[in-house]
Order: sequence, then structure tokens, then C-alpha cells
Amino acid sequence: MAKVSINIATGSIQKEDIIVGIDLGTTNSLVAFINPEGKPQVINDTGKGVLVPSIVHFHPDGSVVVGNEAKPYLVSDPSNTIFSVKRLLGRSYHDIENYKDFFSYKVIDDNTESLVKIKVGERFFTPIELSSLILKELKERAEHALKTPVNRAVITVPAYFNDSQRQATRDAGKLAGLDVLRIVNEPTAASLAYGIGLNPEEEKTIAVYDLGGGTFDVSIMRIQNGIFEVLATNGNTFLGGDDFDRAIIDHWIEQNQLNREEVSANKELAQALRLKAEEAKKALSSQNIYNEKVGDIPCALTRSTFDSLILPKVEETIVACQNALKDAGLSAADIQEVVMVGGSTRTPLVKQKVAEFFGKEVHDQINPDEVVALGAGIQADILAGNRKDILLLDVTPLSLGIETMGGLMDVIIPRNSKVPTKAGRQYTTSVDGQVNMKISIYQGERDLVKENRKLAEFDLKGIPAMPAGLPKVNINFLLNADGILTVQALELRSGVKQEVEVKPAYGLTDQEVEQMLFDSITHAKDDVAQRMIIEARTEGEQMVYTAERFLEKNKEYVSTQEISDTIKHIESLKEVLNSGDKDLIHKKIDELNEFTRPFAERLMDQAISQAMKGKAI
Ligand code: AMP
Repeated sequence: MAKVSINIATGSIQKEDIIVGIDLGTTNSLVAFINPEGKPQVINDTGKGVLVPSIVHFHPDGSVVVGNEAKPYLVSDPSNTIFSVKRLLGRSYHDIENYKDFFSYKVIDDNTESLVKIKVGERFFTPIELSSLILKELKERAEHALKTPVNRAVITVPAYFNDSQRQATRDAGKLAGLDVLRIVNEPTAASLAYGIGLNPEEEKTIAVYDLGGGTFDVSIMRIQNGIFEVLATNGNTFLGGDDFDRAIIDHWIEQNQLNREEVSANKELAQALRLKAEEAKKALSSQNIYNEKVGDIPCALTRSTFDSLILPKVEETIVACQNALKDAGLSAADIQEVVMVGGSTRTPLVKQKVAEFFGKEVHDQINPDEVVALGAGIQADILAGNRKDILLLDVTPLSLGIETMGGLMDVIIPRNSKVPTKAGRQYTTSVDGQVNMKISIYQGERDLVKENRKLAEFDLKGIPAMPAGLPKVNINFLLNADGILTVQALELRSGVKQEVEVKPAYGLTDQEVEQMLFDSITHAKDDVAQRMIIEARTEGEQMVYTAERFLEKNKEYVSTQEISDTIKHIESLKEVLNSGDKDLIHKKIDELNEFTRPFAERLMDQAISQAMKGKAI
């Protein structure tokens, strides 16, 4: 199996082009590359700074600004300004139910298993589209700074990201016009930046402690033969430097006997205090006393008072480290290296407590905001084949996946995955009483299976008749070191099983692989756009099916008026299903949902509510 690099312009094999590393963060994002001296370097597009705030603002005319330019609108136009979209990537309504109030913009909350959407004005955006706008900005900045087209990237994700969140990140890259060579775990990238794991002989167990503005995680990793294995992760996705700022504000309110309600009602004052608090916190990372004012309100703080204010939060992170170690079956003494990531690890108390807990000095020499991107840059360089000293494991040159509804390719093993590898996903049926499921296996990078290469097809027979959405079919792909793919389908409730073996590389020349990759990049934008339309149509069709079944089953419990109004909504959704306008389809789905929700909630029985869940083949 070969690793193929292609020139976007000519389609020819290429070795020397720049591959960048991207840290797509919750609060800030940035790009790094390996400079001509062979050193990782962050990209600072003239005058714009290194960090690009992960914020997207939509102007009333539909035009978009990203980064620092979008930041002021967080306060002045919150409903059209999207922040923290990383928290929504690859998530369903169900996943974010508990914290949907966190977002000041409209997240469509439907309490179903489908992926969330964000409504801006009358348009619907997926987190993938919004993330792609941030990635596009990063790509443009990199191209501007490096004066060369940037088409290939490595993007980092938290170690705890699941398959769907990783796939969503890949899709965002693709939509931004980037060929995403690999999704790398953030702690892996941070370790690489410190040179940990670059020597294939090295065997180590390390901890990566990442405390940012709003999220905290710790990963325990084992490095062996150049492979990073995540042994355990722990953390809190709502803990970070913002909590330190809030603790300072609370302290000042108390010290100055201010009225809490009045402060929060006065947006300007609240904002000024927040900025002062962050300034004080940062200052106290290098000095012992801070003494300033907001208007005539004294804002003073000493390092020791600050430490006592944030101690409970810092201790919370130490408990998470303890739990991660426990899950990994290790103790603090087993950890050989501790790597610090995230702006808040500059706080002296944080460093001190982490060093005390692990009983060793921590790695904090590299800028903690940049360390992940720098490591991603190194990983990109390794993939570019520029580091001959580093063991590059065999990778699969093309993605492997199956066909899902609407003829879409659902990738199970992404291209560039190391082999051997295994991956799986759960599917369900789309029609009541469905007893067979056709599993078609494809290889390729295009979003529609008809553009990819079919490897095999088989029927999983004998699924017991159940309402749509109830059967649970696990599809597992196992790609062994010889490149043989075994696909297994297993219906969990009945134990019905079927298996097939194929050789994906069989009959494919390097040129054909190259051509398939070339096509996938030149068609990426159209493909993703088309996929979004098909996904909207499929969701709409499912919605029509479910709503019609619902009316049929519950005739006697719903009023005649409700029935005729629902039918009107169903018809108006049906009318737009083939319009090719995904926003319009989403709008109609949304309207039907809104309309039926009150009585659906009242009546929907278990089976039908299940039927709305899960992906169907
Ligand atoms: P990140 O999400 O990794 O970009 O981290 C951003 C967080 O780091 C914010 O809460 C910042 O206030 C915090 N931060 C940045 N610089 C410092 C500093 N010098 N001392 C303490 N916290 C800092």
C-alpha cells in the first residue's frame, strides 16, 4: 500500500508541497508548518496575529467575517455570531440537550438522534459548514503568508472525540477545500512538538494536561513503536480560564460591595469587568500584585488571593488526572513525561499543582497556545515524507465505507488510516418490518457511492420483523496488515450475522488511486453540497414517513383539525423534497416538527419515537 501525494493543479505525484498542521480549537484556531530550516513554525499572517478566534459572524446581507473581525459581534449581535462550534461538531440534538442554553445563537433542538443544525436568519447551517468557514480563513491566511497554495492539512481533535466528531472534522476540511491527510489527537500533536514519540525505539507513558479557556482534558497515553495509544481521558468540557475570570469578578463584586444584579444588567460594566479580570489573571502569571480600576471601581488582587480563589477549580482538574490514571490502571509514578497545553496552564498555581501531583517537572517551554498546532505541523511533515528517520506505518490509500440512504458513501475506515485497523458503526432499518438489509461496500473519496469503486455486496437476511429504527445492526470493518478487508454485519437483538472478505487493493494501479484522489479533491465542494441536499431529503422523507405513520396509528387521539393541519405541513414538505434546496427542506422539516411536537410528545409511543432515531441504510 502506498501513500500518494498529488499536485492539485496537474494531478501528478508530488513530494515537495507544503502540508500544514491545523489546531481547530473551541476558542482559537491556528496553523503551523515546517519552515525551510526544518523547524515547526506558527503562521502569523501580517498584522493579523497567530491565533484566529473560532468565531463566525453573519452580516445582515449574508456576508461572513471570521476571527478577530467577528469577535465584537459576540456582544453586539449574539444571535448571528457563532462561537464554540467545535462543541457541536458531530453531535446530535440529544448530545447537547443539557447545555443548549450555553449558546446565544439558535441551535435547532429536536431531541432526536440527528445531527444539530444552527439557524442564522432564515438559513440553516451544519457545524461542519461553520467549521469549514474557519478552516477556509486559516487556509487563506496560510496561503497569504506562505505565498503558495495550501491544499493539504493535518487537523487535530481532542482525544475523546468519537468517530462521528472526527468524520465531521474531516468533512469540514474537505468543504474548505483541504485534503485532510490525517486527523491527529491533540495530545499526540503536543507530545510531538516536544519531540516525545519521534524516536520509534522509545517506549513511554505520558500525561497531557490541557486547560484552555472553556474546556479541560487530560489524556494518558502509551507510546510504543511510534504509535500513540490513548489509555484514558478525563476532564470537564465546561471548565477553564473563563472560570478563573468569573472567580475574580465575584471577588471584586464582594470587595466593593457591588450589587450583583445591577452589574450583570449593565452589559458594558459587566464586559469591562470581565476584560479587567482576564487582564489581572494574566498579569498575575508573572507578577505578585495587580492594582487597577474600572471607572472608579478598584480592581486589586494579589497572587495569593487569586490562588485561593481558583484553588477549588484547579483541584477539580487534579481529581480528573487521578481518575484518568485509575482508568488506565496506573499511578502517578508510572508517568514519565507531563506535557502542558492551553493558555490557562500559564497560571503558576496550575503548573505547581500538576507538577506536585505527578511528582515531576512539567514540559511548559513551548507556548501552550501553539504547541498543538506546532505538533500537527510536525505530523504533516512526517506524512509529506520529509522525515526519513521516522517510521511511517502502512496506510490505506483510499477510504472504505458502505452505502447509506440516498446513495451516500458512509466512510468507516478513512484513507490514510494505519493498517491493521478496525472500525465499526451501528445502523438501523428505514422501513417497518424490514427483514433484509443490503450491505454494499465501496472504496473511494467521493460522497456519492456511484462515483466510487464497489468492492462487494451482501444481504444480511433474517432480521426479525420490527418497527423501523429498532434493529441494531453493527457493521465492522477489519483491514489486516496484508490489506484484506473483512466486513461483518451483526444484528444485535437477534444475533443474525453475515461476513464477507475482499481485497480492496486488488486490480488498482497507483495511477488509478491517484486519479480517484484527484477527482475527490476537484469535486469536493460539489460533492459536499450534494451530500447535504441528499441528507436533507433523506431526513425529510423519514419525517414524512414517520408523520404519516403517526397519524394513521393515532387517528382517534388527534383532532380532525390537527390531522388536516398536519397533512398540510406534510404536503408542503413533500413539495420541496426534490427542490435541491437544503435550507428550504430544513425549514419545512422544522415547521412540521414545531407543529406536531405538542401532540407528538403527548402521544408518540415508544416504537414510533424509536423509529425517528438512528441512521438507516
Ligand atoms: P486557549 O483556549 O488554550 O486559547 O486558552 C485561553 C485561556 O488561557 C483563556 O482563559 C486566557 O485567559 C488564558 N490565558 C492566556 N494567557 C494567560 C496567562 N498569561 N496567564 C493565565 N491565563 C492565560
